[in-house]
Amino acid sequence: MKTIGLVGGMSWESSSEYYKIINKTVKERLGGLHSAKCILYSVDFEEIESLQHQGRWEELTKLMINFAQQLERSGADFIVICTNTMHKMAREVQNNINIPILHIADATAEKVIEQGLRKLGLLGTKFTMEEDFYKKRLKEKYNINVIIPSDTDREIIDSVIYNELCLGIIRQSSKEKFKEIIKKLISNGADGLILGCTEIPLLISQEDVKVPLFDTTTIHSKAAVEFALK
Ligand code: GLU
Repeated sequence: MKTIGLVGGMSWESSSEYYKIINKTVKERLGGLHSAKCILYSVDFEEIESLQHQGRWEELTKLMINFAQQLERSGADFIVICTNTMHKMAREVQNNINIPILHIADATAEKVIEQGLRKLGLLGTKFTMEEDFYKKRLKEKYNINVIIPSDTDREIIDSVIYNELCLGIIRQSSKEKFKEIIKKLISNGADGLILGCTEIPLLISQEDVKVPLFDTTTIHSKAAVEFALK
């Protein structure tokens, strides 16, 4: 079994889900007392979030490279970045380490393709929904088209992520707002929905949504186990 290097703490609310899903999946696959070999580099998210919202991405890139290098030096065989947003600098991180990064968008795209879907709604932070690093990869590498919510709806989603979900706050009122936004994406033609933020599965699950749902936290965690056991 390979050792998984997790870059986590963004936020720890979702990293703890990764840890649980990864270990449960290893147990399911191997039985007995088997559990995952992994190393977690967990950051102080207040520092990261503040740099993100000041647009200080060069500093963040340096930090991310450093986290991944520390995991590599500690014996990780590959890297799992436990946040969609921080894949913004995945390429630079990959260029500065000698072990592979298991990209969250690739793991998700494979599941989408398995179901034969081509037009997906995307929920995530404003960075993930609005910038190119995520949508472009889905389009160019997998020919998956992404539709995103309106300006106001993106504000709502982003605010719920940073002000509630990353703090472990789960509100019924926010769930209802998300469900309304999802309905609009479906009526705009989405035939599936990507929960492209690792905290959103704390709020929304398949039973809340009529179209197939792609929970990036679960998909990425399970892909990590498959890779570790390959
Ligand atoms: N975990 C989140 C994501 O998947 C958002 C937190 C962050 O900014 O990294 O995008």
